Amino acid sequence: MICHDCKAEEGYLHTPGCDMEKCPKCGDQIISCECDNSKLSDKERIPWICYPNMCSRCGKLWPALFLLPDEEWKKYVEPEQRKSVLCFDCYQHIKEAIDICFYETKSGTPFLHGQVVQQIEAGQYEPL
Ligand SMILES: [Zn+2]
Ligand SMILES: [Zn+2]
Ligand SMILES: [Zn+2]
Repeated sequence: MICHDCKAEEGYLHTPGCDMEKCPKCGDQIISCECDNSKLSDKERIPWICYPNMCSRCGKLWPALFLLPDEEWKKYVEPEQRKSVLCFDCYQHIKEAIDICFYETKSGTPFLHGQVVQQIEAGQYEPL
C-alpha cells in the first residue's frame, strides 16, 4: 500500500506537506493541526503505515463515509462503538433492528414490530 498522496512506500516518511502525514504530538493531520512542528526531526516524524478504515461490524474495507446528525448516531450506536467506523449498510441494519424492537409507547402500551402487543410472560408478547 503506497501513500495515495505522496506515493511513499510503507515504513518511509511522507514527502513534506503530504496530507496523509500524522502529527506525532496530536495524531491529527500534520499539515492542519495546531502544534508547532517546525523543529521536528525526521526521527520524530511518523512514517507511513496504512491502517485501513474498516466497518467494525462487517469488516468491509474503506466503507464510504456518511454524515449523520449527532443525536441519531448516539441514539443507535452504543458508546463503545461510537469512535469506530460503520458502513452504511450496517448502520441501516442497526437502526432497523432497534426501531422494530420492543419499546413502550408514551401511554405505556408495549409495541413490537409496529403492533400493539400484550405481555404474556417475561420477554414474550403477542399482538393485542
Ligand atoms: Zn504521503
Ligand atoms: Zn499536532
Ligand atoms: Zn458493515
